[in-house]
Amino acid sequence: MDTSTLTFPFDNTFAQLPERFYARLAPTPVSSPRLVRLNDALARQLSLDPAHLTGASGVDVFAGNCVPDRADPLAMAYAGFQFGSWVPQLGDGRAILLGELIDCDGQRRDVQLKGAGPTPFSRMGDGRAGLGPVLREYIVSEAMAALGIPTTRSLAAVLTGERVIRENSLPGAVLTRVASSHIRVGTFQYFAGRRDTEALGLLADHVIHRHYPNLASADDPYLALLSAVIERQAALVAQWQLIGFIHGVMNTDNMSIAGETIDYGPCAFMDTYHPETVYSSIDHRGRYAYQNQPPIAHWNLAGLAQALLPLLSENEDEAVEKATAAINTFPECFKASYTAGLGRKLGLSTVDVGDEVLGSDLLERMARNKADFTLTFRYLSALSQTQNDADNHVRALFEEPAEFDQWATDWRVRLAQEGVADSERQDEMRKANPLYIPRNHLVEAAIRAAEDSDDLAPFNHLVTVLASPYQQQPGADAYAEPPEPEQVVHQTFCGT
Ligand code: AMP
Ligand code: MG
Repeated sequence: MDTSTLTFPFDNTFAQLPERFYARLAPTPVSSPRLVRLNDALARQLSLDPAHLTGASGVDVFAGNCVPDRADPLAMAYAGFQFGSWVPQLGDGRAILLGELIDCDGQRRDVQLKGAGPTPFSRMGDGRAGLGPVLREYIVSEAMAALGIPTTRSLAAVLTGERVIRENSLPGAVLTRVASSHIRVGTFQYFAGRRDTEALGLLADHVIHRHYPNLASADDPYLALLSAVIERQAALVAQWQLIGFIHGVMNTDNMSIAGETIDYGPCAFMDTYHPETVYSSIDHRGRYAYQNQPPIAHWNLAGLAQALLPLLSENEDEAVEKATAAINTFPECFKASYTAGLGRKLGLSTVDVGDEVLGSDLLERMARNKADFTLTFRYLSALSQTQNDADNHVRALFEEPAEFDQWATDWRVRLAQEGVADSERQDEMRKANPLYIPRNHLVEAAIRAAEDSDDLAPFNHLVTVLASPYQQQPGADAYAEPPEPEQVVHQTFCGT
């Protein structure tokens, strides 16, 4: 029995901003909550005791049935460009921010319930989430964290005991999400759209204080803020490209101002490499295809720049000039992160003018030969300076293995320039090239077992394997394998 009291030492700053930033309301209780999974390590990182959280009172908090002391629940207001179209008001239609905690490292973290019931921003929605999308977000966000990519985290998933109606009737669930903050590009756009410059300034000051404190003393803090967000987003999207991650819904309301991956909907990792890959069922024109992610991030950040104009200068021309100069740095910021990361994936410790061509040549050959993105780089990590049996593992991933051989000859010429020992380079490459990613067919199987048979074992196994993506694990071979043809997932759904 859980007799101890559960305390969350919330310290809420967003709730101190003016009332027009949010709607205060409590989550809507559910009939019979049941814990699906608690993230013990993340709980401890937040200085919370996992043993208390798995008890009935912890589960009540995660389900929205009990609002803990010091919480100040609210739904945040924001706007956004969805698939290029302006929507002046979106906001948390099914998420409720409980409050902010300071973690073990002194970092401020939002704790939010996703699927916690309707809010004034719900529009036509029911405010709820289905188990499938909750498990998908749990699996993928935790995998991203383990891969070392900035992301929101998943603290807990609970079943509500209620059904949600989508195309079918699904078990309802709530995800407890942890983020540096849930402030988005669309949060700025909300106030810019209302010509509320006072609120823009308050929001910008809040964001600087919270996410970019060293900019407070910059000559031009708001311009510095814009540049800093551009840098973080460029680095983030470069990491997505290097790992084969496709977000699926890069609307400006799904772009975090802190530079974390946020709002996992119909996201997916590529199996076979192709730059035009799209999985999302709602992305009919491939706006958010793999290869479009960098230019879309650039476009979204231009939207942020536009929203910040009133803060950059009272003189409109001058504001536009500053914003344009900042936004024009995106391509080079992206390229710097991407090229450095690709060099690491190829096992290069120095930089050479030919490296970009070497990298893109490999990718083009992979695309022509339907090579598995993840395994090509992982198996490449086992190759030596001289050709040996290990080459066959990579070759076998190419429809036409000679296409790999030709590239490998060039690669080895480049490696010879560096003179790094094979074992040392291979160790470094294994740290840049994961063996396990949340493959779509495995995510799908975990969701099917949970939704259809109330069997959480595949989900739990998958989460455990993905916690150490760079390290080969005994008995986990099936988690590294690409799908068999009949297992290939062609479309993912956001399930909202
Ligand atoms: P998303 O696609 O999850 O990023 O959500 C886009 C917008 O739709 C946000 O304003 C969400 O809060 C809202 N939304 C998504 N699903 C629901 C739902 N089931 N009920 C209410 N609002 C929702
Ligand atoms: Mg969203």
